[in-house]
Amino acid sequence: QPLNISEWTVLITGASSGFGEAMAWRFAEAGCRLVLVARRLDRLESLRDQLQFTYHVPVHTVQLDVRNIAEVDLLPQQLPESFANVDILVNNAGLALGTASVQDNNIDDAITMIETNVTSVIAMTRAFLAGMLERGRGHIVNISSNAGREAYAGGSVYCATKHALTAFTTAARHDLVGTPIRVTCISPGAAQTEFSLVRYKGDQSAADAVYRGFEPLSAEDIADNVLYACTRPEHVQIADMLVLATNQA
Ligand code: NDP
Repeated sequence: QPLNISEWTVLITGASSGFGEAMAWRFAEAGCRLVLVARRLDRLESLRDQLQFTYHVPVHTVQLDVRNIAEVDLLPQQLPESFANVDILVNNAGLALGTASVQDNNIDDAITMIETNVTSVIAMTRAFLAGMLERGRGHIVNISSNAGREAYAGGSVYCATKHALTAFTTAARHDLVGTPIRVTCISPGAAQTEFSLVRYKGDQSAADAVYRGFEPLSAEDIADNVLYACTRPEHVQIADMLVLATNQA
């Protein structure tokens, strides 16, 4: 029997597009209460209105740059009371910037990737775990990447951040053995979202070229697997999931 997570509170970072947005739809369909986090508040508010119209679930939006650790630390106590008991934390916000070779890495881009993909997850996890442990229920899902298992030319920093995230997630799972908290690492392959447009800094034709020659994953493909992991019976922990496009090189 799948675990019934209706009325569980789910916080998703990076809910303003791509995987995070698709997850919001899946969790809303499952009857969850949602906390949607990203920098682009207009996107979150429009998503909130659509979700509420379609599924009549409670949705709270938070405009937050996850690199702001002081704000992340305060987030649990700043959520309205009815959204404060976060049961599922999905650390999904993340990005790649540029495709520079090691000798040309831009340090500002590197810091942005490290802070967004790694430091923020460390802080979000710390901020929300205390409540989960107190209530005896919780699930942390980290969206890493195929780049967290393999490394490729032109992706030294991004691959390093995702390897770090994968390792952090594994260690968190070990730390939480003996508690009811589950930890899941999802590693997607190439999926068509705004990810490439961000990576190529707005160059649409370079972004489109990434998906040429094979059918990429969709955001919904990843959302399906996140929902699957979260709805396994409580004694089952999907620790690690690599989800690739079938014909991805
Ligand atoms: P998108 O670019 O579509 O979404 C990224 C999300 O992260 C946006 O909602 C963005 O919101 C948010 N975000 C980025 N920086 C910040 C920040 N500083 N503070 C708060 N939110 C932030 O890409 P995807 O949906 O594809 O990416 C989601 C995750 O999946 C990322 O971690 C990415 O590394 C990973 N991934 C993606 C793959 C792909 O091929 N698409 C493959 C493997 C992993 P906003 O700009 O509004 O803040």
